[in-house]
Amino acid sequence: MQPNHSTQGIPPIYTHPDRFPSGARCRACSRIYGQDQFDNVRFCRDHDERNNSEEARLCHLSVDLQELFLARCSSYRDIMGWRPAYKLWEPQNAPVRSPSETQWWKWVVQSYRMCEISHHNLAQPLLDCKEGRRFEEYNLKILAMYKVRFVTISPHDIWHCAFIIALNSGMYVFDPTGVQFGPDWPLVSEWGTYRSMRMKPDESQWNLEIVTLSSNTCHV
Ligand SMILES: [Zn+2]
Ligand SMILES: [Zn+2]
Repeated sequence: MQPNHSTQGIPPIYTHPDRFPSGARCRACSRIYGQDQFDNVRFCRDHDERNNSEEARLCHLSVDLQELFLARCSSYRDIMGWRPAYKLWEPQNAPVRSPSETQWWKWVVQSYRMCEISHHNLAQPLLDCKEGRRFEEYNLKILAMYKVRFVTISPHDIWHCAFIIALNSGMYVFDPTGVQFGPDWPLVSEWGTYRSMRMKPDESQWNLEIVTLSSNTCHV
C-alpha cells in the first residue's frame, strides 16, 4: 500500500508485540523452531546454512535483499514525515520480552507501508541475480520472476506487493515487507501456501495483478 500520512508510520499491531508467541523464529519461513532459544534470530533447520537446498539458498538470498532494502527505509520514512523507526521500537513503547522480539519489531516498523517502494527498489537487484551479475555465491538458477500485487487476508485487507520467483524446485514468494503484518508473516514461502494463507480468497482479477519482471519492464 502507498505510504499514508494519517498513520504516522506506526503499524496497527505495533502496540501489541507480545500477542505473538515467543521463541526463536526462522527469518525466512517465520516458524518458531525453538521454544527455549528465546534470543535466537536465525534460520530453522530446513533453512539454515548447513542446508544446500535450492529453497534454503533462496532464503539466504532473500534475507540479503531484505536487509539491503530495509537499510534504505529510514530515508523513506523521513520523506513521509514519519517518526524515525528507532524511536518506536524503544522498549518502553511496547511490551517486548526479549532482544530477539525487539529485533523482530524493528523489522515490523521498518517495513511498514514500504511494499510498493520495494517493488521499485528490488527489481534491479533481483534482475542482477537472475542474470548472474550479483549474488553469484548463492548459485541460484532463477527461471522467471514476477511482481505480484494483491489484497491480503483479513484482518489486514489491504493491497500488498511481493515477488514470485520460479526455480527448478518450485514457485516461491519473496515478500520483503510482509513482516509489517507481524513476525509470523513469512519472508519466503511456497507460492501455493502463500496464496492460500496470505491472499484474500476471492481471486478475481480485481484483487490480483501479476507482472513479469524482466529487463524490459524494469524502470529503475
Ligand atoms: Zn502495501
Ligand atoms: Zn525456516
